Amino acid sequence: MREDTRRLRRMIRTGRARIRYATVSCRAGRWTITVTVEAADLHPARQHPPRPDTDSSGWVGVDRGLTALIVAADTTGRQVERVGDAPRPLRTALPRLRRLSRHVSRKQRGSRNRAEAVARLGRAHLRVANVRRHFLHEVANRLVKTHDRLVLEDLYTAGMLRNRRLAAAISDAGWADLARIIGYQQRWRGGQAISAPRWYPSTRMCSACRTVGPALPLSVRIFACDECGHTADRDVNAAINLAVWAEHHHAQTRDPEVRGPVTNASREDGPGQRPRAGETSPDDGGTPPPRTSVTAGTPEKGGVS
Ligand SMILES: [Zn+2]
Repeated sequence: MREDTRRLRRMIRTGRARIRYATVSCRAGRWTITVTVEAADLHPARQHPPRPDTDSSGWVGVDRGLTALIVAADTTGRQVERVGDAPRPLRTALPRLRRLSRHVSRKQRGSRNRAEAVARLGRAHLRVANVRRHFLHEVANRLVKTHDRLVLEDLYTAGMLRNRRLAAAISDAGWADLARIIGYQQRWRGGQAISAPRWYPSTRMCSACRTVGPALPLSVRIFACDECGHTADRDVNAAINLAVWAEHHHAQTRDPEVRGPVTNASREDGPGQRPRAGETSPDDGGTPPPRTSVTAGTPEKGGVS
């Protein structure tokens, strides 16, 4: 166990959490126990206050930026969040993993040296997975804590933009995972997370006059409108447009059926697993435990730490 289990133990003692399963596994020479916990609902004081159906405001658009991992902005044009770069271990992960796997192939088959090189490579992979998961949860947490309504760029559209500054480890599967984490965290907090449709031209549209211009080459960092002359950071402009889309289409997005891929969390994180055991106290909050993993090295699909 790596993380402090005090909170979990307190919740179990007071009957606000119940251990359902424990899985023991060994990965890259490290033993871990993953505990699946049924926990109480988040305390209302830590949830976003409910909004009436007629209220269409408060949306924050989250764009997978070209020069940043994410850029978030609201309908007034204010940038509310910008996560510039992945942590250093992630950025340097790929060259390091390539080097380590070269080491493996250079060693003689069946040799002790090779076994050691294989173990080193395995540990490096595990470390990258842990750093990555931790980072994505941190980013998601930051967004869902302060904003109850998030609209994300479509996964497919986001995938079209390759951000070369970020390690592939984070930029490829990163956005989909981030969207999934945001989705269930937001449900847990009583907020909303939706994704804009694929066809919505968030990058090409002017956030000032709503004119849709030609596609922007990847080299263009500043959006400039031919119609009204408005200029803005490319990513901020797109994030504003996402927020505006959500505000306009708010009525349709109330139906969970049309919420899009953001809410399609994996089964472990899905609403069916939502804890129903009373309520947490305000100091239980902070991390979302539909499943609480208290270990290092849980499989990517399995635990949520
Ligand atoms: Zn314009």
